[in-house]
Parts: sequence; C-alpha cells; structure tokens
Amino acid sequence: MNLQYYHRQLLTWYGQNHRILPWRDTADPYKIWISEIILQQTRVAQGYDYYLRFISRFPDVKTLAEAPEDEVMRYWQGLGYYSRARNLHAAARQIMSGFAGVFPQTYQEVRSLKGVGDYTAAAVCSFAYNLPYAVVDGNVYRVLARLSDEDTPFDTADGKKLFADLANRYLDTRHPALYNQAIMELGALCCVPQSPDCGHCPVQVLCKAYARNTQSFLPVKAKKITVKDRYLNYIIYNASGLTLLHQRTGQDIWKHLYEFPLMETDRLLTEDEMMATQPKNAVLMQTRDFVHQLTHQRLHARFFWIMVSSLPSVKDCISVSFSQLDDYALSRLTLRALSGSRVDKQ
Ligand code: SF4
Repeated sequence: MNLQYYHRQLLTWYGQNHRILPWRDTADPYKIWISEIILQQTRVAQGYDYYLRFISRFPDVKTLAEAPEDEVMRYWQGLGYYSRARNLHAAARQIMSGFAGVFPQTYQEVRSLKGVGDYTAAAVCSFAYNLPYAVVDGNVYRVLARLSDEDTPFDTADGKKLFADLANRYLDTRHPALYNQAIMELGALCCVPQSPDCGHCPVQVLCKAYARNTQSFLPVKAKKITVKDRYLNYIIYNASGLTLLHQRTGQDIWKHLYEFPLMETDRLLTEDEMMATQPKNAVLMQTRDFVHQLTHQRLHARFFWIMVSSLPSVKDCISVSFSQLDDYALSRLTLRALSGSRVDKQ
C-alpha cells in the first residue's frame, strides 16, 4: 500500500464530498462525544435532530450532569438503546466529580468514562484534540476489509486485533482527525454494504477486493444474530382522562422508561382472556397490534384500550392524565401505540 497516495486521495475526496454536519463544525469534545454516542446504532438522518435538541437543552457537561435523569431520558425518547442516555448522564457526573468539570484530554481518561469504548475514545481524541488514534466502526471495518481483501471475521477476538492493527497502520498520523472522518465517510457514502460505488472510489487502484471482485463478500461476520420473540399485552386504561403508567426496572429493554401496565405471556391474549382479568364494569374500546423489531428481539404487542369508571390498583403503577404523558420518557413502542389514537381529549 502506497500510504502517501492513499492519504492524499482519501483526504482530497473527503474535502470535495463530505456531508455538512453540525458536529463536524466543532472541536468541542463534549459535543463530539454527544454526537458519537447518538450516532452509535442510529442513522445520521435520524440522529441529526436529536443531536440539535440535545445540545440545545444540555449545552455543556455541567448542565447535563445537573439535569434529572428522567429529563435526559425524555430527550432520548425514540432513539432506542437507552443505556446510552443513562451512561451519558452518569459520565457527565463523573466528569464533574473526577475531572473538576473539565472534559478529559487523554485517551485513557476519555476511555474511563462510563459508556465510552475504544471507538468513542478514539473518535473524541482524534476529532477534538487531533490525537493519532484510529477509529474502527462498522464503516471502517468494511473499507479496511475490502482495501486489503481481508476475510477474517471482524467480530472475533483475532479479527478485532487484526483490524485494529490494520487501522493503525493505515492512519494518517499527521491528520488523524481528517483521516478518521474521511475513512468513515467513504464507508458511509461510497464503499457501502450493497453495491459499492467503486467507479467513483478515490482509492480504487489500491483496492484488492476491487481487483479480485470480492467486494460483495466482505467484510465477513462470524456471529449470526439470534432473535427472540416476546408477547406483550398492554392495557391502556381510560378513567375520565386518567390512565396508569409504570416505570420499567431491572436488566431488560427500556430500563427506566415508562409504559402502560403490561402482562407478558408466551402468546398474545385474546380480548376475552384479557377482559376476564378486568373489573366487572370495564369496557373494551379497541385493541391494536404492533410488531416492534429490536436487534435481538421481536416484540409482538397488543394494546387493549379499556374504559373504566375508576382506575384499578395495579402494583407499581402511577395515575397520570393523558395530557401529561409528554412529561414522561416513553418507549418507542408506546409512542407508536399512542400516535393517531391519543384519547387525551376524551
Ligand atoms: Fe470500496 Fe470499491 Fe473503493 Fe474498494 S474500490 S474501497 S470496494 S468502493
């Protein structure tokens, strides 16, 4: 690999083709950190507005650390992978207590923050401080695997080490911030998973996969994701505009988010089965079904809208008016069930 040529080609291409994104306009480590955490598991198009809203409400570490966790979760509502928001909040408090409120400036210190792994630490240190740490995310794995025609699975211990070494070898140590942005952007815009645009690729002449026509087989992943089916029966009570909510706890999805009372079963309950568990004067208004896909789980949800004269007592539930639901961080599934069917005016 002619590294000088590779760097020149890649950086020139980046200069002409990169997307204008708000977190690229700054060297503020706090903003870069927030953007990187939002963009994990989230597409840029979806993360864009969340980032702007989040930064506008929590513009610095201190504001984030002092905010109640419920409010932070509300700003994350709908993004999924909620442990990211909890970790951001905890890390902001860690910076206040352990670093006197100043964002840490070395790789080891950044890496020590809650929820920060190798990738995020490298991204923050290179983008904010121009330190020579190579980022390795899904886009980078793909570009590196194709450039070097490397078919070792990247999600194994050997593969991770091999690709980390490769990434460091290819890094432009004179321009780490630009280089890291450029290789990620190449993976996002040109060297995409299906049908890479090799005809317009700035590093095509260096690409071994292109030369051997193996692009579509790379990168190789060892583990297949196993998906578990779950069956969730939610009850949306309505007692003159009041309903019940409970906060999820324990090591499960949507920890600390709010949702309607839930009965989890090994299949969805029928209307008769559900109504047999309800007070005598309860009236079933409608049911709505949703399938909600998470990375490792497929959720089959049935929402039972039930009218009652007064709310029953359900363990760990709180009474909330429909018009106050916006004050609670709700799971995306709950929001889907509510959208178009809000009954707050009843
Ligand atoms: Fe990716 Fe094609 Fe460029 Fe190779 S030539 S790096 S496969 S876009």
